[in-house]
Amino acid sequence: MNTQVLPVNEESIALAAKLLQQGELVALPTETVYGIAADARNGEAVKKIFEAKGRPQDNPLIVHICGMEMLHGIVSEVPERAKKLAAAFWPGPLTMVMPRGPEVSEVTCAGLDTVGVRMPSHPVVQAVIKASGVAFAAPSANLSGKPSPTNAQDTFVDMDGRLPLILDGGESAVGVESTVLDVTSGAPCILRPGGITKDMLESVLGHVDVAGSVLRPLQKGEKALSPGMRYKHYSPDGQVTLVEGAEADVVAAMAKLATHADAQGHRACVMCFTEHMDALKDCHPHDIGSRDNASEVAHRLFDTLRRLDEEHMDVIFSEVVPPEGVGLAVMNRLGRAAAFHTIQARDVLKDEEA
Ligand code: AMP
Ligand code: MG
Repeated sequence: MNTQVLPVNEESIALAAKLLQQGELVALPTETVYGIAADARNGEAVKKIFEAKGRPQDNPLIVHICGMEMLHGIVSEVPERAKKLAAAFWPGPLTMVMPRGPEVSEVTCAGLDTVGVRMPSHPVVQAVIKASGVAFAAPSANLSGKPSPTNAQDTFVDMDGRLPLILDGGESAVGVESTVLDVTSGAPCILRPGGITKDMLESVLGHVDVAGSVLRPLQKGEKALSPGMRYKHYSPDGQVTLVEGAEADVVAAMAKLATHADAQGHRACVMCFTEHMDALKDCHPHDIGSRDNASEVAHRLFDTLRRLDEEHMDVIFSEVVPPEGVGLAVMNRLGRAAAFHTIQARDVLKDEEA
């Protein structure tokens, strides 16, 4: 299949709308990351998403809408608290899991009786939904397991030959996927952290839970509240190790680790804060943003992980951010990118002191 990448204009939006109405796939920018869209009501169309991504069939997709009236048929009920959150955060990077309505294909929801719905704020997605009248299922536009793409070029690298059209709308602003919140039962629960933080949700709802598997792998026998929270995800080809500890120790330990790996013949590098780029200049540093700005780190994270693959890095050491605010979303992705492989800077430096 020939994959076209087109700039956003009236014609390309109309073409995207037509393809969606015909049950075809379209990759397009959203404010979180690039997504692959298909009509959420059309099981045959949605199956093509799973094929294009190589995504496990039991991992449900999020349905995208552009107005509250579109919820009709998509969900069977809009819980009161979902209405409050929609008023506060839609359009924006918040997905709410609600009881599934009759119009959503089983394929979209991977057979669950709930559906995740989001109203994106990106003008291109909104324009395509309006032009097509189609509520579409849209996961991130990466091959399953890889970091999500945040621009059209990275989308093309993964999806060339797998779908007919990619709309190029520039870089995604947020850089990590939406917050997924279950509002169906008990206390509202964050299944996947994202741009809308726990504090922001609590300012509207009071207490909000966070699923245990957000910052650790699923344990044996533990039910995945969000099937997408697999053990390894968002991973570059190389082995990522997270380095924790006091700031100066982390910088010294990363330098030692990268130098050692380099001497052993690996292609080694570090992912570090802007403030440490100079101190780590001999360790092939990648700037993940300021230590004081978790949103900047979120914005750059997937892009950095994808650059590591382009450079064929095989050993990667990364700094970490506190798991608070948007930092929770960063650590959820970074932890999975590293398959939760973490070392303490003090342990690395201990030998030198002895
Ligand atoms: P992605 O499509 O890559 O943005 O991933 C969507 C995420 O939302 C995955 O982690 C899914 O498991 C999760 N998700 C989607 N629908 C549901 C649902 N009905 N219940 C729980 N999690 C969901
Ligand atoms: Mg994804």
